[in-house]
Amino acid sequence: MIILFQLIPIFFCFHYKGILNRDLNHIKNELINGSLPEGRLSIKDVQNLFNDLENITNIVHSQQIGESYLNKTIYSYSLCSDFTKDKPMMLITSLHHSREVASLQMNIYLFLYILWEVQLQKNPYYINMITHNCIMIVPFVNIDGYAEIESELNNHNFQPKTRKNLNRTIACNQQDELAGIDLNRNYGYHFGYDNIGSSNDPCDETYRGSAAFSEKETQAIKYVVENYNIKMAMNLHCFGNLWVLPYSYDNEDLDKDGVPYLIYEDFKQNGQFQGHYKIGHAIELVQYTANGEAADWMLSKGVIAISPELGEQTYSNFFSNFFPDQEKTLKLFKTEFPPLIHFINYLPFQPLIKNLYQYNLEDVEKLNILLSTNQYLVDIECINNGVSNGSDYYFIVSDAVQLIEAYYIDIKYDQKYNRDNIEFSKLNKIDYKNNTFSTFQFLPRSQIIYFLIFQEIQIGSEVKFYFDINGENHENTFTLKDINQEQKQLKNEQYQKLYNLLYLGLLIILIITIGILLQITFKKQNTKIQQNITELIEQKPEQIELNVQI
Ligand SMILES: [Zn+2]
Repeated sequence: MIILFQLIPIFFCFHYKGILNRDLNHIKNELINGSLPEGRLSIKDVQNLFNDLENITNIVHSQQIGESYLNKTIYSYSLCSDFTKDKPMMLITSLHHSREVASLQMNIYLFLYILWEVQLQKNPYYINMITHNCIMIVPFVNIDGYAEIESELNNHNFQPKTRKNLNRTIACNQQDELAGIDLNRNYGYHFGYDNIGSSNDPCDETYRGSAAFSEKETQAIKYVVENYNIKMAMNLHCFGNLWVLPYSYDNEDLDKDGVPYLIYEDFKQNGQFQGHYKIGHAIELVQYTANGEAADWMLSKGVIAISPELGEQTYSNFFSNFFPDQEKTLKLFKTEFPPLIHFINYLPFQPLIKNLYQYNLEDVEKLNILLSTNQYLVDIECINNGVSNGSDYYFIVSDAVQLIEAYYIDIKYDQKYNRDNIEFSKLNKIDYKNNTFSTFQFLPRSQIIYFLIFQEIQIGSEVKFYFDINGENHENTFTLKDINQEQKQLKNEQYQKLYNLLYLGLLIILIITIGILLQITFKKQNTKIQQNITELIEQKPEQIELNVQI
């Protein structure tokens, strides 16, 4: 095992600075070496790591979000340029179940991965993400339970079982679970729906507690969801390579036009899952339900949440799968990172110009609007693939033209835009300045059609349209057609046709006239010959004879 850095207090700064010079490629072969056996991370390791990251960067921020049953502080750590409550956020929790150690590792490395992409790779996508959004992780939801796991690991008891919190109200029989509350059955959406998806027996491993949010740990998460602008969430568990989508308490249909449904369906299709994975509702995946579950409650609050069970079973011993050794953890990263990152990537505003169309004079007439000779109308079909809206962003039109009027309509995300059905008078007007307007109206996972009327300044020049997104502009270039010129051409062509017809008519008349004249001339000549013949015939025979005699 290669030691990336030791968690020795005197070297903290030096070693943690070192971590900023690492990227994901490095941890394909090396992991941060924690102070627990097998290099696993302790609570102290993680807290020290984030304290130092907070000191040496200005994009890591820690928050105290609550306390545990044993009054330990529960921290969240946020990755964003400046931390404000109203930034759209992705919440990533781990250790609702304290024995699921692999989920902690995954959470820490997801955070570090984005930090590396920003600091080291200068990746514009992630720079934009942390400028306008926050990634907020809660590594230890069940921090008391993990403290117990730590001592079990330190005692080299490699079957630590603590899943529930340490609110142990009664003593259970030895063959049963210890008492305590299953934090992932303690949330407030259909809490205690039935005794299958959770238990009313304190000695059962899915004991839900006396009431929804009876536990301080779930209250801490509730506080975060209700006080920050949490848009999406991943509650990491292990194991099984199962991607559990809400709702888990029972079959409940999602609104098919809603943003969560659109994201879940997209994720199912494009989530870059690896190995023997399954994605769907709990009942489809594991043939059992779970009520009072975190993602269920979060979705009921409008948060697009999932609860992945990370990693396939690789040990025949059931419990060992919760805390794989370093080698197996590295394999876990390879299979589970792509879908986790894919899910995180839905968070920011992701506008895309699908199509641009310039209206010709006939189209303009249909819309009942008046354009003067050097004005032009275009529509621009755009979609936002992300979960954040466009409020912090601008749409910009290059100054090859001058914007005269701007409008928009929104239509369903997957609806095809029908140009023939547009009622121009019903469009929403947009305020603009210097060819630039705010895209605040662009909602999560939505489609917008912009209608822009230009005044042309430079004839034949290219017009550029783009969303202003830190260094990652989705730029589209469009050459404005001169529709007046086109119209002139069209008229010329029509006149030409008319002239041609006229010429043809004249030609025919000419031919007919010539024909008639020829006929008359021919007739006259015929008459003359006839006359000559008649004259000849009418001459006296004596005269003929006389002529002969001479
Ligand atoms: Zn779990």
